[in-house]
Amino acid sequence: MSLKPPVVVTGASGLIAKHTIGELVRRGYSVRGTLRRMDKADDVRRAVASLGADPEKVSFVVADLVSDAGWDEAVAGTSVVLHIASPFPIKQPDDPDDVIRPARDGTLRVLKAATRAGVRRVVLTSSTVAIFYGRGLPVGHIYSEADFTDETRPDITPYIKSKTIAEKAAWQFVKSTPGAPELAVLNPGFVQGPALDADLSTSHELYRVMAQGVYPAAPRISFPIADVRDVAVAHVEAAFRPEAAGNRYLIGEGELGLYELGQIMARELPDLKSKVPKFELPDAAVRALSIVDKRMRTILPELGQRKDYTNAKALAGLGLTLRSGDEAAAAAVRSLRDLRLI
Ligand code: NDP
Repeated sequence: MSLKPPVVVTGASGLIAKHTIGELVRRGYSVRGTLRRMDKADDVRRAVASLGADPEKVSFVVADLVSDAGWDEAVAGTSVVLHIASPFPIKQPDDPDDVIRPARDGTLRVLKAATRAGVRRVVLTSSTVAIFYGRGLPVGHIYSEADFTDETRPDITPYIKSKTIAEKAAWQFVKSTPGAPELAVLNPGFVQGPALDADLSTSHELYRVMAQGVYPAAPRISFPIADVRDVAVAHVEAAFRPEAAGNRYLIGEGELGLYELGQIMARELPDLKSKVPKFELPDAAVRALSIVDKRMRTILPELGQRKDYTNAKALAGLGLTLRSGDEAAAAAVRSLRDLRLI
């Protein structure tokens, strides 16, 4: 029997959560995962087992970010909560509140329940999108944990707003609430690495869409990349390193564009070569297309905007060694083929 107290992981059915649960169990912790629907429990157990971790060490509680029910039960008797759940849709909703409400209100529900239960630390999974969209920064600015997105910018997507508003609400809550838990925040880039089952994150859904030949050309947009296996390690380190309290950590290694992700897919799976984007679309073409295709408007501020950033704090502070973006993307593609999803 493990003497370590159980760690709570919200959104246990998600990609990052499943890898994190695997990492926790392999290190000897037991886990209580939250799910919106209990019928996902067996899939999570199977995914955890595929990571070489004992699924018997994982129990589940039902809780939805948009309802108070279940959260007190979820966090009772624990000292660490990893709050990973948040909507991450591949298509932006018409009503921004569809993602903002669960992200912000869910984060506050988790923090309030954790405060009532005397939880010691909450680790929140934010994103580089909560860092990269400030205002008035000089050309060549090197982004770091000191930067925050301005959620009032009119050109950012509902998802970017949701992550920014949720993270800011969390910092505000712990600052203003006596007895609140310590907070540590992780800000990963676009997460790659192996998928574990057919319940795909947007990270992997992108490849499934690409494999259908839907994108003959790619707009010039790119992302910092984080391998989900490294992000899982980061969650565990942020949970237990005393010095992580009160800190946020930008987790990314290099940057890859949509076109490059397609090229990696073609390299790993040559039979899909004819399906991946053949070239990068000139920015002017994307701007013209956005007049008729509303979806294109959400990427206009991204065009050609490679972002310099530093991951030095996460490497030193959490003791991480990060896989390269290429390795992470190749592992994503190969896992999807192993699962027969592309
Ligand atoms: P997934 O889509 O795989 O996981 C999202 C999880 O959130 C699922 O467990 C989902 O549950 C849960 N969830 C969504 N809405 C609710 C709700 N209303 N109530 C309860 N649970 C809910 O995505 P990832 O694993 O990739 O993402 C996990 C976290 O990491 C998110 O916070 C995301 O913003 C963040 N992140 C992700 C990045 C990426 O590139 N993947 C990059 C940076 C941050 P269900 O299975 O029921 O839908």
